[in-house]
Amino acid sequence: MKDPFREAAILLKHSRFTTAFTGAGISVESGIPSFRGEGGLWNKYDPKVLDLQYFLEDPSGSWTVIKEIFYDFFNAALPNKAHLVLARMEREGMLGRIITQNIDNLHQEAGSGMVFEFHGNTKNLRCLHCHRSYKAGQISLDHFPPTCRECGGILKPDFVFFGEAIPQLPLAAAYEAASLSDVFLIIGTTGEVMPANQIPVMAKQYGAKIIEVNPEPSNYTTEITDIFLQGKATSIMEKIERLLFPES
Ligand code: NAD
Repeated sequence: MKDPFREAAILLKHSRFTTAFTGAGISVESGIPSFRGEGGLWNKYDPKVLDLQYFLEDPSGSWTVIKEIFYDFFNAALPNKAHLVLARMEREGMLGRIITQNIDNLHQEAGSGMVFEFHGNTKNLRCLHCHRSYKAGQISLDHFPPTCRECGGILKPDFVFFGEAIPQLPLAAAYEAASLSDVFLIIGTTGEVMPANQIPVMAKQYGAKIIEVNPEPSNYTTEITDIFLQGKATSIMEKIERLLFPES
């Protein structure tokens, strides 16, 4: 019987351009819960706090929950082995791009450079009135809602809320990656969030081989996945690393 890990490593070694497409699952072992599934954030919080309309109607109420989830939780997290292996693959010329749905900055903290954040990043806040941008650390989150030092407008985390458009740059980078890639490595996503979930499907249509890492089957597994590596991101990526870089 064929060994899926060896098959995946061969594909990755021979690929001219590989893209990693990551979701909340890759950061679960860094201590950040996913939205859905067991232990998911939506079991505890109401997703409406990330609805743009709700935020505009009650910015203080939204901010109270947003701070707890995205600033108290996320700030304590560190990149895990799966983030680190992707960064190494990029350094060694085996990974062209990361398209992430995550907003936790952990790919960059792991050392990855070519990261395109489909849904923005928690590390920046933007003024809804004058559009000035701030680093999250520059702004006190002791009083809600935080406001702009220049114009007093309300600051919103600069990640994509329900009802907001995807930023142009990551959208273009994702479409391009789908058309360029020989291999798409999907890690830790259910594939439920539109329109991000269409990117691997496009890649498949352009001819990419799809390798998927997830402890559970996802929307992709039976539809487009060529090699399903079932398990947690850190242990699977550790095995992949040993096969890609056997000398170290
Ligand atoms: P999701 O919450 O819908 O699904 C998480 C997926 O990860 C599931 O398929 C689950 O089986 C898998 N998973 C769980 N533990 C894993 C592990 N140890 N290793 C690998 N996979 C594991 O997540 P999604 O599909 O990314 O979509 C949700 C949206 O949530 C995204 O748009 C993202 O912006 C946002 N989100 C981001 C973060 C973050 O930045 N870390 C956290 C929560 C949600």
